[in-house]
Amino acid sequence: MPQNHYFRRLQKVAAGTMVISGPCSAESREQILDTARGLQPLGIGLFRAGVWKPRTRPGSFEGCGEIGLAWLTEARQETGLPVAVEVANTRHVEAALKAGVNVLWLGARTTVNPFAVQEIAEALRGSGVPVMVKNPVNPELMLWLGAMERLQTAGCEDIAAVLRGFSCLSSGHWRNEPLWQIAIDLRQHLPGVPLFCDPSHIAGRRDGIAEIAQEALNLAFDGLMIEAHCRPDEAVSDAAQQLRPEELGAMLARLVVRQRDSSPGSVCQQRLNELRTEIDSLDAALLSIVARRMAISRTLGELKRSNNLTVLQSSRWEQVLNHARVEAARLGLNIRLVDDVFKLLHQESIDIQQQILKDDGGN
Ligand code: PEP
Ligand code: MN
Repeated sequence: MPQNHYFRRLQKVAAGTMVISGPCSAESREQILDTARGLQPLGIGLFRAGVWKPRTRPGSFEGCGEIGLAWLTEARQETGLPVAVEVANTRHVEAALKAGVNVLWLGARTTVNPFAVQEIAEALRGSGVPVMVKNPVNPELMLWLGAMERLQTAGCEDIAAVLRGFSCLSSGHWRNEPLWQIAIDLRQHLPGVPLFCDPSHIAGRRDGIAEIAQEALNLAFDGLMIEAHCRPDEAVSDAAQQLRPEELGAMLARLVVRQRDSSPGSVCQQRLNELRTEIDSLDAALLSIVARRMAISRTLGELKRSNNLTVLQSSRWEQVLNHARVEAARLGLNIRLVDDVFKLLHQESIDIQQQILKDDGGN
């Protein structure tokens, strides 16, 4: 990781975090210039706009193409803001590098494709241009990590990750579910790589952006990528989620950037240590109870095997789950958490018992 990482040197807004902003798509010279002029006074560190738009279905606006690069260069000249575009193939990379675009990013529909990522990485070799990698559309950490590794292997040192949420089968609260844990896991694998959150593509609507942005900052994200447009209602892509520069400014002013660590030896740090010791011993107790539960599952499996019973008796599982839900409600626990934990425990218990039947005679 370079000492002087590009994405750690971006200018910060007054609230104290790095913000990348600009329209979803470059639509016209005026739109790019107006939007950049509106954003520049907010202290954003990088101006973004898509000139090639990978759309899920054909027939919608697929980007203005190379002409947009000239508009971005003009916006940079006027405002001093460095500029970023999305690239999805080697032709895009070549055109963007030729135009002197400062930063490139890989979109969610590109990160899913290792061949495309590899080709882009090769085209970037030796360029030294900073690259952001959005998470893949589907919730698979390894695809995201793999894309970052392909770029690193091609010599790209200034890389950053952007969480833009995941398409999930069950329709959740947001356009793309944030699944924060996946970004937290990515940070575990690549501790030095700056992590941004794109609340615009997670929320899918203006009124959810502030809430998600604040959640990201509470999780120690390094910065935000937020879509802004001088006339959002007329935007040709992602109209519902773009903010006017003034709206973005007001939103940023309300964000709270918290300290990552308390000072060593402080009263707060001592209290944190005490509480964490208590959590550690509860975790140890939880694990020993889980181990006892699994030992009983093994005995149950042997009993079922010798009496030729099925592994699953549905009414029993229903009873276990209902009991857990009633207890969860009584204890003020989140029912979804208790459901998830019990489903995992039950699945493990089934796996143990299936194994006992297999060991007995192969079925
Ligand atoms: C975008 O940033 O406008 C975009 C297309 O994002 P994503 O790849 O996250 O869908
Ligand atoms: Mn967009």
